Amino acid sequence: MAKKNVTDLNVQGKKVLVRVDFNVPHKGDVVTDDNRIVAALPTINYLTEHGAKVILFSHLGKIKHKDPAETEEQKKKNDMAIVATALKKLLPETKVTFVNATRGKELEDAINNMQDGEIVLMQNTRYEPGESKNDPELGAYWASLADLYVSDAFGSVHRAHASTVGVPSHIPSAVGFLIEKELKYLGQALDNPQRPFVAVLGGAKVSDKINVIENLLKIADRVIVGGGMAYTFYKAMGYSVGTSLLEEDKVEVAKEFIAKGKDKLILPVDNVVADDFDDPKDIKVVDFDAIPDGYMGMDIGPKTIELFTSKLQGAKTVFWNGPMGVFEKPGFEKGTVAVCKAIAELPDCMSVIGGGDSASAAKNLGYAEGFSHISTGGGASLEYMEGKELPGIAVIEDK
Ligand code: AMP
Repeated sequence: MAKKNVTDLNVQGKKVLVRVDFNVPHKGDVVTDDNRIVAALPTINYLTEHGAKVILFSHLGKIKHKDPAETEEQKKKNDMAIVATALKKLLPETKVTFVNATRGKELEDAINNMQDGEIVLMQNTRYEPGESKNDPELGAYWASLADLYVSDAFGSVHRAHASTVGVPSHIPSAVGFLIEKELKYLGQALDNPQRPFVAVLGGAKVSDKINVIENLLKIADRVIVGGGMAYTFYKAMGYSVGTSLLEEDKVEVAKEFIAKGKDKLILPVDNVVADDFDDPKDIKVVDFDAIPDGYMGMDIGPKTIELFTSKLQGAKTVFWNGPMGVFEKPGFEKGTVAVCKAIAELPDCMSVIGGGDSASAAKNLGYAEGFSHISTGGGASLEYMEGKELPGIAVIEDK
């Protein structure tokens, strides 16, 4: 069932509490990448242009609430005031008021004094210890500040927190344009893919991606597995993997996937291996069954690039998550670059990147334009592709 979206709400003159994802990278008092703020602007602008009083709230960084001195330190490091400065720069025509509080008189007065079309940004939601525990009192309190709730923080909807699940259980709710777009593309890939549908999964740990591999083996036509995960699969086939990344306790699951996946599951046929991770001196290309003792797999090799590229040809839907090798290290980025390029250049293909490292790789390499959609939520998009219900989406009213 489709979820209500912001255009289904009558927002004129209403106080609208919007959960945004302003968890931006920052150094000192400067936001170093304002992409997430920019991504929230369509919803914010729609609301202000339609006469809403817009109350924005988001988490920023981690605040553990264990040791009091450490908590104070973390609060100082993750003060939302720096985001307010960045937001004001992006919206010079709109009145934006930052409130250094997450509850109480100062916040309530600021909200009650708002004119239509104005914005209040409150302090980091994680200043509240009850946020991450979805404390019912906190959710009810935040809901009492507004008439309507809009969720536009896709990166947080896989978490049942007070700001993502608590609030919308009390007041009418809808998703914003960012989440609507995420659900459109991820939903199409998962529920109604044009075929052939090829999934490309990489990255470090099988344990992080077991459920995605399992679900996509059921849904996709081909599942390509690269990156550090591949070595657990090699081990499951009885090959030696040298000092490559290996999750011994996942070898049995890998065996199951190989048996179930048959020729749907595509693994690397050669690897770039090195004698040392931090200070590689001897680097060579070897076949999958010939990793020498003392060497570790750092990237897929040239034959694998050719194989993966050929398996991508003709794809009408592609979902990609995770690099093919240790792409941050010069010399071991070729596999990731080649796969990224191959997907970006596919004609008439709906290609989706599931956030995280692959999203930054595509952007940094200049291939972002070649993708239909780059998800803003790594964890959330993976859980979606696992077929799991996302609590922050489930709670939003249906159309
Ligand atoms: P993930 O967050 O699971 O997508 O993993 C991304 C990380 O996987 C990146 O930091 C890569 O360097 C790492 N990675 C990819 N391939 C390998 C490999 N062969 N050995 C070790 N780490 C890898």
